[in-house]
Amino acid sequence: MARTTSIFLLLTALLWTTVWADPLQVIRGRQARVHLLELYTSQGCSSCRAADEWLSGFTGDKDLWDNIVPVAFHVDYWDYLGWEDPYGRTAFSQRQRDYAAAWRNNRVYTPGFVHNGNEWRGFFDGSKLELDTPGAPADLGGVVEIAIDEGRAVVSLTNPTTDAKELTAHVAVLGFGLSNYVSAGENKGRELENDFVVLSYTAALVKKTGDSFTTTLALARPEKAGAERYAVAAWFTRGGDLRTVQAAGDWLNEAAVESIRLAKTKGVKMSDKIVKSEEEWREILTPEQYQVTREKGTERAFTGEYWDNKDDGVYLCVACGLPLFASDTKYESGSGWPSFWEESDRSLGMVRTEVLCNRCEAHLGHIFEDGPRPTGLRYCINSAALKFVPKDAKKK
Ligand SMILES: [Zn+2]
Repeated sequence: MARTTSIFLLLTALLWTTVWADPLQVIRGRQARVHLLELYTSQGCSSCRAADEWLSGFTGDKDLWDNIVPVAFHVDYWDYLGWEDPYGRTAFSQRQRDYAAAWRNNRVYTPGFVHNGNEWRGFFDGSKLELDTPGAPADLGGVVEIAIDEGRAVVSLTNPTTDAKELTAHVAVLGFGLSNYVSAGENKGRELENDFVVLSYTAALVKKTGDSFTTTLALARPEKAGAERYAVAAWFTRGGDLRTVQAAGDWLNEAAVESIRLAKTKGVKMSDKIVKSEEEWREILTPEQYQVTREKGTERAFTGEYWDNKDDGVYLCVACGLPLFASDTKYESGSGWPSFWEESDRSLGMVRTEVLCNRCEAHLGHIFEDGPRPTGLRYCINSAALKFVPKDAKKK
C-alpha cells in the first residue's frame, strides 16, 4: 500500500516536472512600471484606420515590450454598419464599457485609447504618449513573468509594489500583419492591415500568496489565426478601478506559437454568456438600471432617456453592452417607451411576453403583436435597460 502511494507520488511529481520544468518560452518583464496601452477599434469604423496605423508604428519602436505593451481590442458594435470585424468580440466591447463605468463616464467610442487603465485622448490632439512617468503612483510595478506551455500560461507578478491582496491577471495572444479586404461598410474597398490584434483573451482573479500573485490561464486557440507574427501580453489590474498595476509582453517563439495553435481548448473557450452576482450587478448599474434589469421593473412612460430619441446609432444592453436594436428599427409608438419593430441578430430571449437580453438575462421590457410592418411586432423597452451609442460618437 505504502509502495503504491509512493509510486503514485513519484508519477505525479514526474508529470508535473515534464509539464512545467521546461516551458516552451518564458517572458519576464522588468521591475519598473511597464505601460499598457489598449486601443479599442473596429474595421467597420473609418476613423479607426489612423489609430490602427499609429499603433502599428510600435512594432519597430525601441520601447516595445521593455517599456510599453500595446494591445488592440476590436469591438463589435459597428458590425451593424455592414462589415463584421473578424476580430471583433462582444466581450471586448463590454471591456470598454467596464472602463467607462469605472470612470463614471457613459460614453464609449472608437478609436478609443486606454493608458494604464485611464482614458487617453492625446492621440486626437497629437500629444505624445507619456512614457517617462515622473510622479507615477508608487503602487505600480513588480515583475510579470509569463511561462508558456501547451495552450497554457503561468502568469505571475512577483515583488509587487501594490499592497492589494487580490488582483486580476490578464493574458492575450496578439496577431500581427493581419490583412483583410473589407467589402462593405465605412471602409468598403480597402485592404486593412492590423497589428497587436487581440486574438484570444483570458482573465482571472488571483489572491496573493507569499510575495507573489500566480495563476495558470488558458491560452485559447485563436479563432482567426493566419498572422505573420504573434506575441503574448499579460498584465495585472486592481479590481475596483481597473488600474493597471504592471504589464509584460514579447514576441512568441515558434514552439509557443505551434503550441497555442495546436493546443486543444478543452472547454475553456470564452463563454458568451455573462453571469454576475446580484452584488456585482449592483456595483455596475445605477439603482434605476438595477431595478429594471434585475428586478423586472418598469419606468414610467415618457420619463426615460430614449423614448423620444431619433438619433442614428445603436442601442446596447445597459448591463452587458450587447447590441440589441439599431436606430432604423425604432419608431414612434405613442406609448412613451422606446419602441422597436425588430431586434438585432439573435440578441433577445423571450419568456412569453417578457424580453430579455440573450447574453446577461437583463429584463428589458415586453413584446406585443401590434407593431408596424414588416414584423408586426412592438418591442416595448425601458430606456433604463438601454445604452444608446450615437453613430457620430466615433467622430468626436
Ligand atoms: Zn445584456
